[in-house]
Amino acid sequence: MNPAFFSKNVVRWYQSNKRDLPWRRTTDPYKIWLSEIMLQQTRVSQAEPYYKEVVKKYPTIFKLAAAKEQDILRLWQGLGYYSRARNMLKCAQSIVRDYKGKFPQSAVELKRLSGIGDYTAAAIASIAFNEHVAVVDGNVYRVLARTFGRTEDIALPSGRKSFQELANTVIANTDPGTYNQAIMEFGALQCTPKAPDCSGCPLQTGCVAFAQKMVEQLPIKSRKPKVRNRFIYYLLLRDQDKLIVQKRQNDDIWKGLVDFPSIESKVKLKKNEIADRLASHFKLRKINHLKALVSEEYKHALTHQMLHVRFVEVTVSGSLKEIGSRIKGARVVNFRQLDKLPKPALIVRYLDKRSLS
Ligand code: SF4
Repeated sequence: MNPAFFSKNVVRWYQSNKRDLPWRRTTDPYKIWLSEIMLQQTRVSQAEPYYKEVVKKYPTIFKLAAAKEQDILRLWQGLGYYSRARNMLKCAQSIVRDYKGKFPQSAVELKRLSGIGDYTAAAIASIAFNEHVAVVDGNVYRVLARTFGRTEDIALPSGRKSFQELANTVIANTDPGTYNQAIMEFGALQCTPKAPDCSGCPLQTGCVAFAQKMVEQLPIKSRKPKVRNRFIYYLLLRDQDKLIVQKRQNDDIWKGLVDFPSIESKVKLKKNEIADRLASHFKLRKINHLKALVSEEYKHALTHQMLHVRFVEVTVSGSLKEIGSRIKGARVVNFRQLDKLPKPALIVRYLDKRSLS
């Protein structure tokens, strides 16, 4: 396919099919940046209410930079991939401190900031500052592979480099911000991973994959990332409306969020082993199996991880504070206070199911 034909038709398609989204009505780099961070690995419908909430609560980068991390994490609750929220705050603070509150204008400079990778830098630089730098992600690989009939393997660095070069050629003679948004939207709505709408597609006449009946096969991606299973067992110690919570310190997906004391195992534990292991880890007297409530398994899928989680709920009378003082990072709160703290979605699911929130 001719690159000029491709870009002209993708942009034309975009003008009449694009969704009316709040971040499409602005070229303010602050708002573009917020939307791009929230849209990473997240569907538009899920990100949109969070975007509106952040813009309402923190209308400028100065307001955001002055926010507390716990408040940002609470606002982010349910959106997942919490390192985005922590990096967002760090990035805002750095822009206020080092750039007097003004976003750097090139993709190269933007990439030096926390949480901004190739894709996000290209999106901000092109949409807010008209730089000719192409966004490349799963949507773009798919659309370019199909329309141009490209069979390079996107699991390999050489394949990704080749697509980046093609993307840079295609964007050359366009309005870069509009073109980048157009190809993303085209991939999201028209040339979708499954059942693309080829019959109503304006690119069909030049589409190599369509002509060669290769739509389902492209793009080629050889290696599938391995999914790591993690088995997490929570100990929920309660005394009426009070319970022990713990702020996660470890440098992992939920750093800074609040959950319950827990242990992690490399293998799935049997139901009768869980309470014993928890009791021994937290130096508690043997947990009475009959009185402990062991939940069913909750599963939570992340990009490269599958979490298998069970909760053990134990009622302790009078000794909550003393037990809490022996657990690092733990404190006693009531359910009303817990509601205001940032928690992983899985914890919210459990509390809702048990009608404890
Ligand atoms: S014809 Fe089908 S495969 Fe080709 S660009 Fe259009 S939707 Fe995608």
